[in-house]
Amino acid sequence: MARVPNEEKAVPLVPDSYVPPRGDRHAVKKGETWVSIANASGLDPWDLIDFNFPGTKRTKQTDSQRAMRQVNWYLREYVGCKTSLDGENWAFDSGLIQGKGVWKGGVIYTPAKTLPPPLPLPRCSPTSAKSPGRRPTFYRLLTNTEKELAATVFQRRNLPSLDTIGIGDGLLGDGYPWTDMTPMSDSGLQMSFEINLGDAARADLTTKQAANCFTTGVGGTVSDLFIHEMTHVWQYHNRKSLRGRFSVGISSFFFGHYDSSGGDPWDSYDVEHQASIVEKWYHDSAKPTHILYPYIQLVVRAAFAGEDALRYAGGLTLNELNRDLADLRSRGLDR
Ligand SMILES: [Zn+2]
Repeated sequence: MARVPNEEKAVPLVPDSYVPPRGDRHAVKKGETWVSIANASGLDPWDLIDFNFPGTKRTKQTDSQRAMRQVNWYLREYVGCKTSLDGENWAFDSGLIQGKGVWKGGVIYTPAKTLPPPLPLPRCSPTSAKSPGRRPTFYRLLTNTEKELAATVFQRRNLPSLDTIGIGDGLLGDGYPWTDMTPMSDSGLQMSFEINLGDAARADLTTKQAANCFTTGVGGTVSDLFIHEMTHVWQYHNRKSLRGRFSVGISSFFFGHYDSSGGDPWDSYDVEHQASIVEKWYHDSAKPTHILYPYIQLVVRAAFAGEDALRYAGGLTLNELNRDLADLRSRGLDR
């Protein structure tokens, strides 16, 4: 005799009219499970369950049997499941017709993976000075082109997994972009780093559109801004020289004239000055002939260098870096 899964009606109950925010309808099929659907979306199964039926994950943390009973109740009552393979849980099946509300007929929801609308870029929408800033309304992953650009500048081995970086549309007060290293999940993503760029988050971050189209007080292009904020990710990730405060905007260094004789050691610069060095080099065409290139090649790109590679040289002045670089070049080692 077949056992029937235990059920329990959750209190409070998720109403049968509840559609998870930015959820995509998914009609379940025979053979699918919470685990298989969650895996396909890069989610933890209980995050997916909780996305559909909020509260169940919290219940699970104190009483997992109870949470399973509640999920069973939702599956039969709302989704219309009526078979069980193990006698303990209702199973997904094809062609379900029973159920209730927005779930009726075998429907669950997966977090929308759709990227924000790509090009053309939206109209300029800088938040103005004195504005209170805004919370991100979405996060997205980097596109492949954006990943390639970041890898070109920093090299992949010096960066965290690029799929742990979320691009959001939040802004600080006065319209400034910000970058943070906080593990969080949002928009169906599990992130370790968050880069918030206002409406530039909807743009292709490799483009030369003026950043001030979207933010406030930032010189240069959208891609300059992206490289600047990626430098902060590099800094957090490598945990080197987190000197000084992350401050909003771009240091005056970016707009000033660089004194080629006065290049101090990378480690003596604060985080904003460092980000400005990378940004400036990138903005000026990102060539090995640039005056700032030794910082890029011998410091930024050497952060995680292996034994066979260049040594991290954050303690050397620009003159010393230049000598090292000349030495490497003479031996054909500057790649
Ligand atoms: Zn910065």
